[in-house]
Amino acid sequence: MAKYLGPVCRLCRREGEKLFLKGERCFTAKCAFERRSFAPGQHGKSSGRSKSVTGRESDFARQLRAKQRARRVYGTMERQFRRYYETASQRRGLTGLNLLQILESRLDNVIFRMGFASSRAQARLLVTHGHFMVNGRRTDVPSMLLEHGDVIQVRDGSRDTTFFKELADVAEKRTFPAWLGRDLKNLTGSVLRLPERSEIDGSLNEQLIVEFYSR
Ligand code: SF4
Repeated sequence: MAKYLGPVCRLCRREGEKLFLKGERCFTAKCAFERRSFAPGQHGKSSGRSKSVTGRESDFARQLRAKQRARRVYGTMERQFRRYYETASQRRGLTGLNLLQILESRLDNVIFRMGFASSRAQARLLVTHGHFMVNGRRTDVPSMLLEHGDVIQVRDGSRDTTFFKELADVAEKRTFPAWLGRDLKNLTGSVLRLPERSEIDGSLNEQLIVEFYSR
């Protein structure tokens, strides 16, 4: 399973906005974007790479940034993201919405959305360490796509660890979307349905992503 191993905060600086990839840290003064909100690299402060000679961002640059932004928010690599797009385009309905629903139904995202992890990166780590079961079977694949009716639960052997003992109290302070169900007492959750567009990050621009791959 390929994954990005570089500095995570650099991705926020590249996108020019906070992507909230590091959980609680993103809300503190330690956030790198709060201290250095310019693009990374030698020419970061003066970079105008994506602008045309007229000073306006080209259509391609906007499409590319929208695609990169979504990819980074969900922590996927390019090849996998393109596969999601191809799957989305083969499904009925709007390709852009299909793509976002596929991304939202990833196991790591669902665990994060349920409040069982402070970030998708932490959720990914918890899954790869085998702390979760899906429909009663242990899994260590964060990219697993969940469907309506799937049930997630913390593995019995993991419940005695400090992290999971405190999880119910921590998760209670986190909100979760209506398309998911959760039971903090038993540390379980389920997918009630696929999310609607209004329940997905409004700053993602799926139309530009579709335009990027349709070039
Ligand atoms: Fe982005 Fe969070 Fe790092 Fe701030 S702390 S730059 S929001 S990942």
